[in-house]
Amino acid sequence: MNFAVKVYPRTIWGERYHGNFDQLTDEIAAAGIQNLIVPAFQGARIFFAQQFDPEPNPWSLQPLREQCAQKQLGFALEFPVLNDRDTFDRVPQFRPQSPDGKTYPEEFWYRPICPSHFDYNQHRVHLIEGAIANLKPALALVNFLWCPFLPAVEAWEEMGSQVPTFCMCPSCRQEFTERAGLASPLQDIEAWFAFRSEQMINLLADIEEASRQSQTAPSLLLELPPVATPHFAERLRRLTGVHLAAIQKLVTAVSPQLFLNEHGQSPTWPLAILDELAAYHFSLFPQLDFPDLTAFTEDHLHEFVFLLQSFETRKIGAIALFHWENIVHLPQVLNLVEQFSYEAS
Ligand SMILES: [Zn+2]
Repeated sequence: MNFAVKVYPRTIWGERYHGNFDQLTDEIAAAGIQNLIVPAFQGARIFFAQQFDPEPNPWSLQPLREQCAQKQLGFALEFPVLNDRDTFDRVPQFRPQSPDGKTYPEEFWYRPICPSHFDYNQHRVHLIEGAIANLKPALALVNFLWCPFLPAVEAWEEMGSQVPTFCMCPSCRQEFTERAGLASPLQDIEAWFAFRSEQMINLLADIEEASRQSQTAPSLLLELPPVATPHFAERLRRLTGVHLAAIQKLVTAVSPQLFLNEHGQSPTWPLAILDELAAYHFSLFPQLDFPDLTAFTEDHLHEFVFLLQSFETRKIGAIALFHWENIVHLPQVLNLVEQFSYEAS
């Protein structure tokens, strides 16, 4: 098994790794992990020095990139396209709205941006283009995550037969009317789903074109948010606009986010998702989210072993773990990574 680990900005910002990418990459390599996944920007903040960032950037990713190259660690960039805390906080009209006009709540950790702002979307695509040109990743992960579809949120279970919870702000309604010729999404909810999918596919196509024209042309991978099963693919389309059949030409791999036993899901839930995804013939690169030490239990450990064995059975050769700041404090997890990393070599 080939392992990747996500190194999140709060890790990079923390004292522990403040500029000491030499130590960070040594520790990751020593754990038997072969790849790093790093967000190139979070919110409106960019982690690489270039023209968008006139101030000297203490968190430039270039030194981390160089350390990875020296130690033969794979380097992948992650792009949260519609999750942007800074813009969410500064531009209230970009916050998603529900059909009854309620704005997406401010207290959640996740800060989505409505997808119907063309200039903003193009700005994000240009940032991605710049990051790829600067940092030359072998793999680029796109994260559209923009709906409150997380487990324990009601929308997660929805089949989407009703009006989606978000986003139906004035910008979305206006764009829908222009494209579909209907005054309101409530007149034809199927037309609304099709509109949303088209919007997401167009955005993904822009990103794909930008990455293809870069010198290194990294492989593109789409991260898939967790939604309920059965009918994972259809729920995903209706709740988030990600239409698997329609994105096959744009991405080479998909990365379903499979939580570890955190939201009352049985361990068979991740497998049901993998079964459904098998029909689309993407390369699969599952992501497992680890709780921190205080929340980590024996159940998590058993599920981790069960999933590793299941991935091997399904000939899934690579997975992503996130994030390093949690995993580094979980010796049982590191032992298993070493064991399964060894078995595959
Ligand atoms: Zn909107």
